[in-house]
This record gives sequence, structure tokens and C-alpha cells, in this order.
Amino acid sequence: MHEAAIAEELLKIVLEQAKVNEGRPIVGKVSYGHFYAINEEVLSFAFKAIAEGSVCEGMKLVVEHKPLKAHCKMCGSDFVFDITKCVCSGCGSEEFDMFADEPLILEEIEFETE
Ligand SMILES: [Zn+2]
Repeated sequence: MHEAAIAEELLKIVLEQAKVNEGRPIVGKVSYGHFYAINEEVLSFAFKAIAEGSVCEGMKLVVEHKPLKAHCKMCGSDFVFDITKCVCSGCGSEEFDMFADEPLILEEIEFETE
């Protein structure tokens, strides 16, 4: 259950930012790559549970999935890799390099405005 560990990590960052911004965070935008097998509901639930009682209580997590990308060796284009096709979307070639998967990052925190 690595969602709990991720939620803890996120909360730590948000709490630090909340201190700097002296505001109450209401929305956190998280993004990660294709191969992160994260259950969004579990993550949100875990975050909600540990945020209780802190300045982050009631904060919402918005999750964005970054598509997997590849670079075609034949036509030179970068394309979004479709796991069901496994060919370049531009020329149909099977000669391509996969890009590294996107890491999990906290992209943005929205603070309550008064
Ligand atoms: Zn191509």
C-alpha cells in the first residue's frame, strides 16, 4: 500500500508550503506517469485521513495522468505511446525509443483567498 507513503510525502510538502504562504491549502494538483500503479481513491482517502486536524484538513487532491511518450527513429517525431498499438503514430514504424516515465510530482497548490 504505497499510496499511504505517497500521501504522507505530499502532506509534508503541502504543510511546508502552507507555512511559507501563510494560507490554508484547498486544492493540490498531483501528476504522475503511466507506470505508477496508484489507486486515486486510496490516495485521496489516505491523504484525507492524515490531513485531519492539520491546516490541510478538507483539502482536495486532483490527479493528472501523464501519457507515456516515445521518440520514433524513422520519422523523428515524438508521440504519445499507445500501449494497444505499439507503433509510431506518425509513420507506423516499430523503431522507437521510449521516454522515461514521468515522476510523481506535486504540480501546484491552491490556497484559500480571502
Ligand atoms: Zn515515425
